[in-house]
Amino acid sequence: MSATSAPPPTERSRVRRAEDRGHYDRATIHAIIDAAYLCHVSFVDERGPLCLPTAVWRVDDHVLIHGSNGSKMMKSLAQGTPACVAITHLDGLVMARSAFSHSMNFRSVVIHGAFEAVPDADKAEVLDRLMDHLAPGRRHEARPPDRNELAATTVLRMPLFEAAAKIRAWGPKDKDGDLALPVWAGVLPLRQTRLPPLAEPGCPAETPAYVQQWATHA
Ligand SMILES: Cc1cc2nc3c(=O)[nH]c(=O)nc-3n(C[C@H](O)[C@H](O)[C@H](O)COP(=O)(O)OP(=O)(O)OC[C@H]3O[C@@H](n4cnc5c(N)ncnc54)[C@H](O)[C@@H]3O)c2cc1C
Repeated sequence: MSATSAPPPTERSRVRRAEDRGHYDRATIHAIIDAAYLCHVSFVDERGPLCLPTAVWRVDDHVLIHGSNGSKMMKSLAQGTPACVAITHLDGLVMARSAFSHSMNFRSVVIHGAFEAVPDADKAEVLDRLMDHLAPGRRHEARPPDRNELAATTVLRMPLFEAAAKIRAWGPKDKDGDLALPVWAGVLPLRQTRLPPLAEPGCPAETPAYVQQWATHA
């Protein structure tokens, strides 16, 4: 499969509600995942249905999560428990003339499937990719995990085989009869903002370029 082609949506992954907002190409799905630091993982265990937030990153055509071996979520998911991963970016509040037509602009991805454990031999590399995701170059600065730390960490991956993106990126869609109402209509854009870094007191290291540039990027 090429970087942009994708398997057709399955019965489960095909967006039906507002189907014109559904996208299945790899480039769109990868871009939404790569713009995220967190996801929500839904699954059912002996506690009942759960939806838990956790850090996420992508390696090739998999999403990855990690956690302590002691995490109930990681233990359950490592057994292949069916799971669903959701990633959402909120891009704006859509203000329509009628209360009914209000909406939100967003980019989201939903992935169905099951996680599998990343083999021990690959753990260090995929955790380096997490460092790259947080800040390119960071993997060469931070002390790498030692044998005990690696052994204490479960890393799981889920293939993007059954994945859908949904995107809304436009203004309000009012009913024709509401268009002349004297009500402000439009989009109130939202975005996650980078703020100036907060250096740890007493940290002797020089400030790397990606920290200096942190707040200058959108
Ligand atoms: C920020 C935000 C706010 C939203 N607010 C509302 C709201 O207030 N009310 C509301 O009804 N809906 C809202 N949605 C849309 C919601 O996520 C569902 O798409 C919608 O409810 C349709 O549900 P359904 O069960 O009919 O989905 P279907 O279209 O039947 O879903 C079929 C399949 O499509 C995929 N899919 C569905 N939704 C998404 C998605 N958002 N992203 C990626 N893949 C998806 C999944 O694989 C799913 O199994 C919102 C979405 C976002 C991101």
